[in-house]
Amino acid sequence: MDCELSEEHRLVQSTVREWAASRLLPLAAEMDRTASYPPELIRELGDLGLMGVFIPEEYGGGGMDTISYCVALEEIARAEAALAAVLSVNNSLDCYPIFAFGDERQKRTYLPELAGGRKIGCYCLTEPTAGSDAGALRTTARDAGPEWVLNGTKIFVTNGVEAHVLIIYARTDPGPHGHGISAFIAEKGDPGLSVGKVEHKLGIRASSTCEIVLEDCRLPQHRLLGERGNGFRIALATLDGGRIGIAAQALGIARASMEDAIAYAKERHQFGRPIAAFQANQWKIADMATRIQAARLLTYRAAWVRDHGRRHTREAAMAKLYASETAMWSATQAVQMYGGYGYVQDYPVERHFRDAKITEIYEGTSEVQRLVIARQLLDAS
Ligand SMILES: Cc1cc2nc3c(=O)[nH]c(=O)nc-3n(C[C@H](O)[C@H](O)[C@H](O)COP(=O)(O)OP(=O)(O)OC[C@H]3O[C@@H](n4cnc5c(N)ncnc54)[C@H](O)[C@@H]3O)c2cc1C
Repeated sequence: MDCELSEEHRLVQSTVREWAASRLLPLAAEMDRTASYPPELIRELGDLGLMGVFIPEEYGGGGMDTISYCVALEEIARAEAALAAVLSVNNSLDCYPIFAFGDERQKRTYLPELAGGRKIGCYCLTEPTAGSDAGALRTTARDAGPEWVLNGTKIFVTNGVEAHVLIIYARTDPGPHGHGISAFIAEKGDPGLSVGKVEHKLGIRASSTCEIVLEDCRLPQHRLLGERGNGFRIALATLDGGRIGIAAQALGIARASMEDAIAYAKERHQFGRPIAAFQANQWKIADMATRIQAARLLTYRAAWVRDHGRRHTREAAMAKLYASETAMWSATQAVQMYGGYGYVQDYPVERHFRDAKITEIYEGTSEVQRLVIARQLLDAS
């Protein structure tokens, strides 16, 4: 057993860390304030191989493994968490299902553009009445000869405003919970597809989140992704990988909280001493570092299991659960260590605190991760 990153992973880490520190970190506060990001950043990430990290090079991807993906996402999120959300959705929730379940034509059509950062993808599963219970979705897709006709409303779609390639889950057949659902690839500009309400969010503000409205949306037959009726399986397999990405995003936010808190604790003086001299603050730092390292090991372990082609549902849920709660906890400690300055926008920990919360909610809440883990253990015994 080797707990160190390989030379290749360290190279990914140093390259992305350098890019994030020079290119992203200086823009982070402004991106949060304006709830937007410069679009050229996506192209730059594509040039670095980060928009399709584990997509093979023959389809225009980075040809790397899931550990590289985690290392890269942590570095991006350490600088700015919203761009990490954009990146993780494009990689895990759009490129992955097309690569794993798409036919050759779909792979050749979409992957080079998505992995190259020339197009952006999104994942449309959640509906107003189907969140944690995604298998209860109501959007329909009717087989109408040469076309599929989709009707329904998807909500909370990350990247929805900019997305050119949309993975949409819809009910094609009647059936019990989770059955009769199929996956489709839609494109921006498809007739009957539009962007609805755009959300104003607490955190990861630079990424877009919106409704996608489908009103007699017509898709050619060849846009069915995978087999008819296999959509829920595709959605869940996609989320297994996605959750590893969210764990890595959470790690980045947790690390940002800790590193900013350490720097501040050395510089801020009270009672004639730096506040880092007080044991109460030292313990906060020690606990943050320990939890972050534990979360990182869980995340790398889930990535390793995935890279070895093994089922990783439980590992991904554990990594996401622990890393997201570590991010929220660490950001809370950091705000406390900054005192009043942690509560105002002049310092970055207030942003980390807001950004951390979403990692406990999307791609399955912490409660849902606990359900997934418990079910796996109960089924196995
Ligand atoms: C910023 C943002 C971005 C998002 N991006 C996307 C995206 O790109 N694509 C997409 O499809 N979705 C996306 N989502 C949706 C997200 O995945 C859901 O919000 C999440 O899965 C929870 O669903 P819900 O909001 O309907 O909450 P609900 O399911 O209504 O849950 C409410 C509460 O009840 C708890 N709960 C529910 N069921 C159980 C249970 N069985 N046991 C115990 N507790 C339970 C939950 O944990 C939660 O605390 C995004 C959401 C946000 C806020």
